[in-house]
Amino acid sequence: MKSKSVLVIGAGIGGIVAATHLAQHGIKVTVVEKNSRAGGRCDRISRDGHHFDTGPTLLVMPLLYEAEFHALGVQASMHEKLDLQRVDPTYHLVFDDGRQLALTSDMKSMQEQLETFEQGSFQGLLRYMDEGHRHYHLGIEKLVNRDFRKASEFFTLENIPLVYKLKPLINHYGNMSAYFDDPRLKTAFTFQDVYMGLSPFEAPATFSMMPYTELAHGVFYPRGGMYSIVEALMDLAREAGVEFIFDSAVEKIAVNSAHARGLVLANGERLEADAVLANADLPYVYKYLLPESSLADSLARKRFSCSVISFFWGVDKTYETLPPHTLFLADDYRENFDSIIRDLSLPANPCLYIHAPARLDPAMAPSGQDTLIAIVPVGHMSENGEQDWGALRDKARKQVFRRLATLGITDLESHIKFETTFTPLSWLKRYNLMKGSTHGLCHNLTQLGYFRPRNRHSRYHNLYFTGASTHPGTGLPTAMVSGRLSAQRIMDDFESQS
Ligand SMILES: Cc1cc2nc3c(=O)[nH]c(=O)nc-3n(C[C@H](O)[C@H](O)[C@H](O)COP(=O)(O)OP(=O)(O)OC[C@H]3O[C@@H](n4cnc5c(N)ncnc54)[C@H](O)[C@@H]3O)c2cc1C
Repeated sequence: MKSKSVLVIGAGIGGIVAATHLAQHGIKVTVVEKNSRAGGRCDRISRDGHHFDTGPTLLVMPLLYEAEFHALGVQASMHEKLDLQRVDPTYHLVFDDGRQLALTSDMKSMQEQLETFEQGSFQGLLRYMDEGHRHYHLGIEKLVNRDFRKASEFFTLENIPLVYKLKPLINHYGNMSAYFDDPRLKTAFTFQDVYMGLSPFEAPATFSMMPYTELAHGVFYPRGGMYSIVEALMDLAREAGVEFIFDSAVEKIAVNSAHARGLVLANGERLEADAVLANADLPYVYKYLLPESSLADSLARKRFSCSVISFFWGVDKTYETLPPHTLFLADDYRENFDSIIRDLSLPANPCLYIHAPARLDPAMAPSGQDTLIAIVPVGHMSENGEQDWGALRDKARKQVFRRLATLGITDLESHIKFETTFTPLSWLKRYNLMKGSTHGLCHNLTQLGYFRPRNRHSRYHNLYFTGASTHPGTGLPTAMVSGRLSAQRIMDDFESQS
């Protein structure tokens, strides 16, 4: 392996992790990133003492992080690299009728709260958690933590029982009737599907693994914010000898009939290597960095996850009563997803999320002030470009203030010192995310497991992929898994060539 070299396009989580594994095995790795810093959509904006995580705000699935840091050589625990605190309650849910529910691992508190919504619902939660436990452990072992290089690795006799055990053919929301009657509780334990770019009305019931892991394993927050995960990974990458070139966009992957030869950068420079690994969004790579092909067109026609409009506010006072993670959920839940997924728009009464990081780490805002992030899910960019993102942004902004007023916060607008907003256009421009889709290709059944695009190109056999639009899919810890799996694939191929 020592004489081998790999070029990586993009310093997102998948790219950094793959690069580190490769370099730890003696391979010469160079990462080329268009932006001036690493992290991709796990990015940070800092201004006047306010620090904003512009992408992920929740460290979920801690067991996966632990395993991936361990695989990267962090022997004792990821706690060595990250100063983590558990966030409990995880989310404060606020319903349209003003009722609130604090999701917590404190089962006594859950029992007291749930029984006020629906008698007997705590028993429903315990049964739902039992199913979530099964889905989580089977899902991680059989589907997430491995790749599928051949159809015969996916369609095995051993996997047949998964059709029953993981409920992939049963709709998540419909499945909730087995546990709860109250629509607010069905909402409370399915909204996480939006992370996969899916409506709970179409998502497989398998995704009960998400609410399960949040309550069972916890949601965490690293001191310094989510960007400190990027910093920890970059330390490991640099220790392993990975070279990074920032502020350099890749314009083309140079190929011959069967191989990738290297990269052509926007400044005209050419780089060569034995293999290329693309961490930039996979459908974007097919469409813009490779020669025209029918595959690129068919990928562009696949289903993409939703996008979000995000507001980053530096505020001149502290809103102590605002919890770290507040989710405003809407009664017209189905309409919300129809509007986002079918109409590619903003719902009339959108579900939305507010993050107040200074509740968890006071250093995220200057003393006596606040740092607030509001995220409103919307449809991704349409083919015809008809969406008026300025108008949709203004509507979303009003909805955030309207929902905050239900918590008695009515003066926020007048206390905003500065505001930065991201629309789907920003996601596209900043990170080359196709259609401005924040979670890449969506995670419906026909785009999961073996059906998700392979992490090696079918024609150029030394061109590989990693990241959210590849296997296993979106999420920070899953991007770490994806990076490891892709690195392993490259090393296996190098090994078989030697
Ligand atoms: C708003 C939002 C909220 C999220 N919340 C959470 C959360 O709470 N928890 C969680 O676990 N996950 C969350 N995620 C998902 C998580 O952030 C992503 O799944 C993960 O970071 C994806 O990493 P990736 O490896 O696909 O790389 P990406 O982030 O896609 O990075 C790819 C890199 O490639 C670079 N690049 C692109 N084109 C080129 C080019 N031509 N030349 C050079 N470089 C290029 C880009 O600039 C970028 O740096 C969220 C994502 C978003 C957007």
